[in-house]
Amino acid sequence: MKQSRNVSLQRFNTFGVPATASRVAQLSRVEDLARCTFMPGRDLVLGGGSNLLLTGDIEGTVFLNRMAGMRLLEDSHEGALVECASGELWHSMVLWSLAHGLCGLENLSLIPGLVGAAPIQNIGAYGVELSDVLVSVRCWDWLAGKPVEFTAEDCRLGYRTSRFKTDDANRFLVTSIRMNLARRFQPRLEYAGIEEQLGAMGVSEVTADLVSRAVIALRKRKLPDPALVGNAGSFFKNPAVTADLADTLKADFPTLPAYPAGDGRYKLSAAWMIDHCGWKGHRAGDAGVSDQHALVLVNHGTASGRELLELARRVAASVQDRFGVALEPEPVIVGAPWQESPDS
Ligand SMILES: Cc1cc2nc3c(=O)[nH]c(=O)nc-3n(C[C@H](O)[C@H](O)[C@H](O)COP(=O)(O)OP(=O)(O)OC[C@H]3O[C@@H](n4cnc5c(N)ncnc54)[C@H](O)[C@@H]3O)c2cc1C
Repeated sequence: MKQSRNVSLQRFNTFGVPATASRVAQLSRVEDLARCTFMPGRDLVLGGGSNLLLTGDIEGTVFLNRMAGMRLLEDSHEGALVECASGELWHSMVLWSLAHGLCGLENLSLIPGLVGAAPIQNIGAYGVELSDVLVSVRCWDWLAGKPVEFTAEDCRLGYRTSRFKTDDANRFLVTSIRMNLARRFQPRLEYAGIEEQLGAMGVSEVTADLVSRAVIALRKRKLPDPALVGNAGSFFKNPAVTADLADTLKADFPTLPAYPAGDGRYKLSAAWMIDHCGWKGHRAGDAGVSDQHALVLVNHGTASGRELLELARRVAASVQDRFGVALEPEPVIVGAPWQESPDS
């Protein structure tokens, strides 16, 4: 296991904020884990760094995940059981599955980050979530010091959440995942923009490959590229509210998008509310709200994690004041609570 001391994490997080790790250990084999200890709050597991905000230095060890390997465990005319190690790039795995004639991941093309983080927040895009194909997740249990396997149901996956992000945050390191992928293509084109994009590409017969290409084109057009301007994709989740509150808000703000979210609740567009509060394109020093997409916070250059967190809290407070709705961050905030305590 390769280890280094006093490592800058700036190029290891897509916000590009400065932070230093006292120690970095590169994990390339599950067996390495038996020799490691992990203390929540001190140490950190890092994938592609595309869904976290570092608000300070890491006093302990950052475990950089480099575990590699993808394989077909079972294969038939109907589909395949695929296993992928957690250190593989998610998008490379999507392309690998398509190259093997397997369908189900095309709508999840070009999501940044590594495979191991996918179950942490049940990644989703364009009407599809990991939970649609996930079979099981293998982990290392830091507390018990041994491997453990969870079925997809055990993972308690929800909208951008799972047991790994809530009750069991920092207890498990995901080492691999298994997914069931189909040979027969079942298009999921209902989500905004896919059909139009396929039309613009002159597609007459839709295939999984072409949907993947359409999603890639849409994402490149709609989201700021972290290689050009630091960001972690959507910073806020779309909040789910009671039907009563959704009705009241729709009466006051008829153009506010609201969709049924199950359990009689409605999911509201966080982007619409943030835009309506005038934040799109706002800048406080180098911390800003993207002028391309109101849900995306951006680092224009030298913003710190603390400055971005401060801006995010101000955005959320104004949405709370105006609409009475609490926004929650989608990325994991490392080193600070989301809500400031009254005496801090
Ligand atoms: C431009 C852009 C667009 C995005 N679009 C989407 C989108 O459409 N849909 C979506 O869902 N997300 C999206 N994201 C967010 C992000 O890409 C995903 O959440 C991705 O799965 C994060 O992977 P990562 O490896 O970068 O995780 P990291 O940021 O490295 O880690 C995120 C969290 O998971 C933990 N973690 C990482 N790996 C492991 C592991 N192996 N075991 C245990 N814990 C682990 C970390 O400790 C941290 O708490 C986007 C981000 C960007 C920058």
